Amino acid sequence: MAAVQLSGIFKRYGDTQVVHGIDLHIDDGEFVVLVGPSGCGKSTLMRMVAGLEEISGGDLMIGGTRANSLAPQQRNISMVFQSYALYPHLSVYENIAFGPRIRKESSTSFKPRIEAAAKMLNLNGYLDRLPRALSGGQRQRVAMGRAVVREPSLFLFDEPLSNLDAKLRVQMRTEIKALHQRLKNTVIYVTHDQIEAMTMADRIVVMNAGRIEQIGRPLELYDHPANLFVASFLGSPSMNFAEGVIVNRPQGAGVALKLADGSEIVLERAPASARAGAKVTLGVRPEHIETITQAPDTMMEVEVIEPTGAETHLYGKIGGNTWCVTTRQRSQVEPGQRVALRLPAEHIHLFDTESGRRLV
Ligand code: ADP
Repeated sequence: MAAVQLSGIFKRYGDTQVVHGIDLHIDDGEFVVLVGPSGCGKSTLMRMVAGLEEISGGDLMIGGTRANSLAPQQRNISMVFQSYALYPHLSVYENIAFGPRIRKESSTSFKPRIEAAAKMLNLNGYLDRLPRALSGGQRQRVAMGRAVVREPSLFLFDEPLSNLDAKLRVQMRTEIKALHQRLKNTVIYVTHDQIEAMTMADRIVVMNAGRIEQIGRPLELYDHPANLFVASFLGSPSMNFAEGVIVNRPQGAGVALKLADGSEIVLERAPASARAGAKVTLGVRPEHIETITQAPDTMMEVEVIEPTGAETHLYGKIGGNTWCVTTRQRSQVEPGQRVALRLPAEHIHLFDTESGRRLV
């Protein structure tokens, strides 16, 4: 097992820099998820750790050793990709045994490891089959088995579940997490799917345009996003936003956010930095908004209603933006109806509109 330290890592392709000075420490045994939109540099960063891509600058330490110029096979890493890359003419057993065989290990040495991996991954009954006779999930498990028998100090997963259907993705998510809890190995996992990041990670690294936006435990990031990017990236349906200007309320009764349509939302717990005249974006998550009948903070005309079974999403416009309100009750609301909303002060997030940073 190994801790991983990235210090000032950057990557340039010709004149274009795509990863800009990444600093990140990953503890031994930690499950870290790199998440961000397509093209933000996650795979490039992962491939630099794997040794599949040259590091343009900075230091990469794996298990206390500088690894910048080590060949991939010297880094004691196993990687699982989106495409399983199984050998179609080899059985499941031989696919898993491929690595040990080319390293000329004796079968008495690797056979018990393969059997243990097969048991752990529920592949016992399938060891004689060819990959084409397996389901997508089973193939992905074979790919993981191949990674596991190497007993690497570091596991790298690059979007390993993207090719699976939605139900299997959820199941494999749980299996990979359970596997990590048993093996307690260090994992770096790349995905663009924020739900995978939230559900699997010990810590999430949110990336955007080659930089880290925020690092933290999943619920830390969810509850205290440091900026508008993280606030809008995590959560589904995503956080609702309303831009406005801070105004003083009469008789020293605190401040409110005045929206472009002239409506005001009272801010009961505004930080001192929310001074009159400041351009501020308010954020509130759909599940934190309450639908009430009296003394609302704001009103919304419902345009679309989406029942999912467990909950109902009501969509409408506030201050020119589409908002979503999630309720666990079965809603009787009809399109065109106006609903009164309460925005609980403890769930309001305020950001500086210009810099995007959270106001404190
Ligand atoms: P992600 O994994 O987050 O989708 P990537 O790491 O694949 O993002 O890509 C990051 C950026 O680097 C993208 O803008 C991509 O176009 C660019 N890029 C990736 N590989 C190359 C390459 N071989 N040559 C030039 N640009 C590349």
